[in-house]
Amino acid sequence: MLNASYEPLCVVPCRRAVVLVLAEKADIVHDTGEELHSERLSVPVPSVIRLRYFVKVPYRRRAALNRRAVFARDHNRCQYCGAHAESIDHVVPRSRGGEHAWENVVAACRPCNAHKRDRLLEETSMRLSRRPSVPRELTWLIVAVGQVPEHWEQYLRPLASAATTATPALA
Ligand SMILES: [Zn+2]
Repeated sequence: MLNASYEPLCVVPCRRAVVLVLAEKADIVHDTGEELHSERLSVPVPSVIRLRYFVKVPYRRRAALNRRAVFARDHNRCQYCGAHAESIDHVVPRSRGGEHAWENVVAACRPCNAHKRDRLLEETSMRLSRRPSVPRELTWLIVAVGQVPEHWEQYLRPLASAATTATPALA
């Protein structure tokens, strides 16, 4: 769903998109080529809709931190050894005061997770492949829908640039 300004807002279920279109609150920008039929009317199945009114987005929401999102950010790879990740590791263990925050969680494989235990990185010979950070750009979207349809990309570019400038710097 795009804002009246074409800024991408969120992903909504198809049914919700149709309701907004039928209520004349949004227009179909891109349809799937399929149609929904009821007794009296048929509606193209929307893939991208644009609101007729402008929604004010006060701040760019920080992506919700959950297991699925961490795996998406880290491409399902253990951030210590590159193996297939199966768990979430707190870089600074929670027992040592580590926060449950994007900057302190990484995807990890079971052996690395077990090997690290509640030690600090400096107390091990392990190394992170990159410093964990708050995901930017399209990660939240990929997490929401699993994968982004190719024809969405042209509508997402404004988001990518907006996210780069509007995401608050890491504390
Ligand atoms: Zn590993």
